[in-house]
Amino acid sequence: MFTHLHNHFKGSFFDSIIDDKKAFAKLNSDNNKGLAITDHGQMNYIVKFSNNAREFGIKPLLGMEFYFVEDATETINTKDNFRNHLVLIAKDSEGFKNLVKLNNISWKDNYFQRTPTSTLRGLLDWNMIEEYNKGLICLTACFFGSLPYKVINSSQKDVEKEYFKYKEIFGDDLYLEMSYHGIPEEKIANEGIEFLIKKFNQKGVITQDSHYLNPDDYKTQDILINTRFGYASNFHFKSKDYYFKSEDEMRKLGFKEEYLNNTNEVYEKVNFDIIEFYKEIKNDFIVHESDKGEGSSFIGEEIPFSTWKTLGLKETLRRTNLVVGYSDNLLDKIYDAIPDFNKSLKENLIQSDELRDNFANTHKNLFSIAQTLEDFYIDFKVLLQYKIRANSDKKILDYFPVVRIQDYNGLLLQYDLESMKILGFL
Ligand SMILES: [Zn+2]
Ligand SMILES: [Zn+2]
Repeated sequence: MFTHLHNHFKGSFFDSIIDDKKAFAKLNSDNNKGLAITDHGQMNYIVKFSNNAREFGIKPLLGMEFYFVEDATETINTKDNFRNHLVLIAKDSEGFKNLVKLNNISWKDNYFQRTPTSTLRGLLDWNMIEEYNKGLICLTACFFGSLPYKVINSSQKDVEKEYFKYKEIFGDDLYLEMSYHGIPEEKIANEGIEFLIKKFNQKGVITQDSHYLNPDDYKTQDILINTRFGYASNFHFKSKDYYFKSEDEMRKLGFKEEYLNNTNEVYEKVNFDIIEFYKEIKNDFIVHESDKGEGSSFIGEEIPFSTWKTLGLKETLRRTNLVVGYSDNLLDKIYDAIPDFNKSLKENLIQSDELRDNFANTHKNLFSIAQTLEDFYIDFKVLLQYKIRANSDKKILDYFPVVRIQDYNGLLLQYDLESMKILGFL
């Protein structure tokens, strides 16, 4: 038996293209009884993830991969762009509330933006986890985690000091993470981590930092991550091995059996049902759909309705082309041949002989990638269609994760309308 403890889905800052239903279906349900969600810096997909997990009889392990720094105030004041990663997973209700708490502090008080045009991130630091750690399992993350980072870049004395800081906070709920996607630094990190495991009789786990379902999906994920800010960037993953592996494939990485088995200990520790959790506080909050169609879920002032958008067919093709690199001329011809931009690529291909025969057949790569991306974005569409207020002395920020978005000076609730319906608020 093996449990995947480190996986990115649709809430992960556009760096994953995994459809969670396909991931659940890919698991071997006799052997893999749980699956974790550890999106970057947000919890906006956890409700749908949990609901889908239920359908497949899989236990959802709810967590997040935080952006972690020594001291968030200092990072913000000095505009220091350096950050590490840290994975936290909720064991129980208390852990879940602490996860929400840490997320909310990171976005409400500790948000970081290096320049006015760069992306906003919520930050986690040592003070925060010293205060809100109960009910949380800590995994030391990929090789960007502060512990593996120190293994690669610092002295053994510093590594051990860092290890004991985590150990003191999380005790038996600390698991040192090892993964291997073919990157040389990972080997160095894993050796150092294994040294700590032996020296201090510590527990370790093996994870796969999953960002796409199958090996061939790397190109689509690469396009998504390279155009997530609307233009092509130079950021690429260092390997093409970040796919969702089967248990057998995980075994073939050659790690010790105990590190695979320890993932099940984490699975066993988790006893949390998000739907039951919110059922108990259902009457403490009043939620209603906005009567303005594309309304808003907000804390603070109302946001302009145009803030969140899906890409649409034209933009999807443009972004695919940005990375695949065909000429603008070709793209213009394709645009001209598309009968209806409001319809999906598939529908357009059925409708237009010219598109199907002239372009789709000669540029299969561009079209198949665009189609995958288009599906992804449509599915991800964030609709801010509800309003919420407290109906008791319970505070919204203690129970609901929020996020801060660019160009808007306020906080938005992370759950979309569909999530609120799943939770029974509507
Ligand atoms: Zn990471
Ligand atoms: Zn990750």
